[in-house]
Amino acid sequence: MAFPTETVYGLGANALDEEAARKTYAAKGRPSDNPLIVHIAEYEDLKQIAVDIPASAKVLAGRFWPGPLTMVFKKDAKVPYGTTGGLDTVAVRMPSDLVARELILASGGFVSAPSANTSGRPSPTRAEHVEEDLSGKIDMILDGGSVEIGLESTVLDMTVDPPVILRPGAVTVGMLEKVIGMVGIDETVLGAENGKVPKAPGMKYRHYAPNAKLTIVEGNIREEVLAIRQLVYDAVNHGKKAGIIATGETLHYYSNGVIKVVGSREDERTIAKNLFAVLREFDGEGVDEIYSESFAMRGIGNAIMNRLDKAAGHLRLPAAEIVRRQKYRRIVFVSQSDTCRGPMAAAILRQKRFRQEYVIDSRGMVVLFPEPVNPKAEAVMRSNGMTLGGYTSIPFSETEIADDILVLTMDEAQKHKVFAEYEEAVSIYTLNEFVGEDEPLLNPYGMPLNIYGLCYENISMLMDKLTKKLNSYTEGEG
Ligand code: AMP
Ligand code: MG
Repeated sequence: MAFPTETVYGLGANALDEEAARKTYAAKGRPSDNPLIVHIAEYEDLKQIAVDIPASAKVLAGRFWPGPLTMVFKKDAKVPYGTTGGLDTVAVRMPSDLVARELILASGGFVSAPSANTSGRPSPTRAEHVEEDLSGKIDMILDGGSVEIGLESTVLDMTVDPPVILRPGAVTVGMLEKVIGMVGIDETVLGAENGKVPKAPGMKYRHYAPNAKLTIVEGNIREEVLAIRQLVYDAVNHGKKAGIIATGETLHYYSNGVIKVVGSREDERTIAKNLFAVLREFDGEGVDEIYSESFAMRGIGNAIMNRLDKAAGHLRLPAAEIVRRQKYRRIVFVSQSDTCRGPMAAAILRQKRFRQEYVIDSRGMVVLFPEPVNPKAEAVMRSNGMTLGGYTSIPFSETEIADDILVLTMDEAQKHKVFAEYEEAVSIYTLNEFVGEDEPLLNPYGMPLNIYGLCYENISMLMDKLTKKLNSYTEGEG
C-alpha cells in the first residue's frame, strides 16, 4: 500500500519478504536492480537488518532521524536480495511522518518503500499523484495530504570512510559535515552523463521526467528570464505549446506560454516542495516544451538541481548566448508631436512577424500634454485595414535610452535633438538611414489626404525593410 512520508509518498511492503519486493517492482515497472529503501520506526531495529554500523551512524541518526536521511550499510542476511536489488548493502531510513511511523510499527517494523510512482515519472507528493500512476495496481493508498519536503531523502553511503552522498536531498552536505566532519559526494550526482555508473543504482535511470521536453536555462536571473521569453516566443512561432517553470520573483516578467510558479527564491524549500507536482501538471496540459529557470547549487538547491537535471535528461542551455543574439528588445519611433508618422510606423511594425519579441512604441519630442492622433493619419490607417485606436501622444523621456532600445527618428532634426538632450544616447538613427534608404521620410503635415496616403506607403516600405533587418540579427536560429 502507498503511504505518505515527509519526503514523497512511498509504496510500502514487507522489506523482509522477497515476494513482496517482486510485487513492488511489478507495480512500479521498476528495473529490479534498483534497490528499495527499508523504513524503520525505532533506531534499535537498524541492528537487525544492518551489520558493521559505524559509530558515526548513531551520531547522524541522533541528529537527523526521524527525517529525510537514508543511510546505506552492509546488509544482514535477514534482508532478501530482492529488496536490495541484489546488493550486499541495505539502505535504511526512519521517516518522521506520523502516519508512516504508525504504519511501520503496525506492519512489524521493516517496510520497504520506493517512491509510489510509475518508474521514471515525477515522484508523488500527493495521494492523487499515486492514484494517477498506480490505481488498480496496488491495494490501498493512505491519503495524508501534501507531503512536507517534496524531494526524496538524501542517500548517504556509510560503508566507506568518509561517507559519500549518493543522492542529494533536504539533509545537505553542510548539515552532515557539521555533525560528522568531511563527507564526499558521488561524482555522478550532478552533471552530464560521464560514463561513470552511479553508486546508487536508481540514479542511473532517466527519472522524474514529464512527457514534454524539459530544458534548464542557466545564467543570471535577468538572462534566464530574457532567454526563456525568447525560447517560448520561438516555440509559439513554430506552433508549439510551451511551458515555463517560473518563481514568485520572476512570474511577472513572462506573458507567453503556460506559466507555473514552482515556489519562491526567498525560500527554496517551497521550490523543492512543488517541483514534482508542477512537472506533473504540465503533463496534464499537453505542453510540448518546458523551460525552467535554474537554482543556485547551495543548500537544498543541490537536490533541486539534481532532480531538475535528471528530469531534463541533462539538457541545459546557457542563457547568455541566447540573450546575446538579441541586439535590441524595444523599438521606439520618434517624431515631433507623436500624433502621425510615429504612431503609424509603430502600428504597422506591430503587424510584422519577428524571430524575437520586440516592444514597439512611439514618442514625441514636443509633447506638452497628451493629444489625439491626426485624423488624416487615422483615416489612412483605416483605409488600409488598421487603426491607431484612441492613441494619445507621449513625450520622449530618458526611459527610452538604453543599450537594447533602438530609437528611430522621422528626420535628422529629431535625431540631433535626442543626442543633444541625452548624453547617454547610443542607438539613435533616422528611420531611412537605419534601413539604408537615401530619401528621408515624407512629412505630410498640412497636406491633403492623398499625401498622407503616400506617406503611409512610404512608411510601409520602410517597415518591410526594418523587419528584414531586425530579423537578420537572429538569423541562423532554430
Ligand atoms: P526511491 O526508492 O525511488 O526513493 O529510490 C531509492 C534510491 O536509493 C535509489 O536511487 C536507489 O538506487 C538508492 N539505494 C537504495 N538502496 C541502496 C543501496 N543498498 N546502495 C546504494 N543505493 C541504494
Ligand atoms: Mg523514485
